[in-house]
Amino acid sequence: MTEALVLIDPAASTVEVSDLGAPQLPVTDLSAHRGDGIFETVLVRLGGSDVTVVNRDRHFARFCSSASALGLPDPGPDLWDRALEAVIAEVRAADPSLTEFGVRYALSRGTQNPDGSQSPRGWAFNVPVDDTITRARAHGISAVSLDRGYDAYLGSKAPWLLIGAKTLSYAVNQAAGRYAAEQGTDEALFVSHDGIVLEGPTSNLIIRRGDRLLTPAPEAGLLSGTTQRLVFDHAAELGLTAEYADFGLSEVIDADGAWYVSSMRTAVTLNQLDGNPIKRDEDLTAKLQALIMAG
Ligand code: PLP
Repeated sequence: MTEALVLIDPAASTVEVSDLGAPQLPVTDLSAHRGDGIFETVLVRLGGSDVTVVNRDRHFARFCSSASALGLPDPGPDLWDRALEAVIAEVRAADPSLTEFGVRYALSRGTQNPDGSQSPRGWAFNVPVDDTITRARAHGISAVSLDRGYDAYLGSKAPWLLIGAKTLSYAVNQAAGRYAAEQGTDEALFVSHDGIVLEGPTSNLIIRRGDRLLTPAPEAGLLSGTTQRLVFDHAAELGLTAEYADFGLSEVIDADGAWYVSSMRTAVTLNQLDGNPIKRDEDLTAKLQALIMAG
């Protein structure tokens, strides 16, 4: 797959197509050694001349609220739209047969200037829908539960933890993924220290109980997912109600179906949690995937 990179200068309001192979970031950039920045990953679906950026507005709104949580300058929608369009144009021109890919866009606090000011910088590049993603969509995944180390609903008491902001500090999420792999599972499932199920390292969890879809409330201590909200907004079309609720691991294991939902994977069945099988709902999985891909 072609690699397209666009550099974004928020101060000058410019976007510039660049070469991923060329040096891009000074080592002094605060994203590089502090993880001090924010990002989003959107799924782009292509069919003939149709281009769907799934959940485009929800992603951008979350990007703005993450910027606000970190005290970064408000990202201007025109600039970031131009960057997104430039990446999409580059990828389509290089491979007109492509049907889907992701675009990751980020805003870093940038480098600290001698006078104490900072120069934020942004970038956007494409990411492939790889085999791990297509396999997960087709066959589902297994997970191991991991204590996140804090109680549920801590965020409002400790805003400096940035719970609910999509920051570039993903080392803990990556470590959880590696730990899950060492346990022989595909994914981690974070649980609050007091036993409330939260989310995966890069996904939200939705369970079905009868005709109800349930997911933990973002205020419990997790990232409010664009995919989860899309599903909830359309639940009635599937003959289901949608509710935010606190639940524990046993409710996931006893559910009538459970899914990890996220932008790139869409909806993937959670087949097994901590070695316990969970009912699979193939019909609803197909409907959820179609609903999300339609954007
Ligand atoms: N939770 C976390 C921690 C994530 O990183 C992500 C996405 O990367 C999600 C949930 C799912 O969010 P979305 O559906 O917007 O991709």
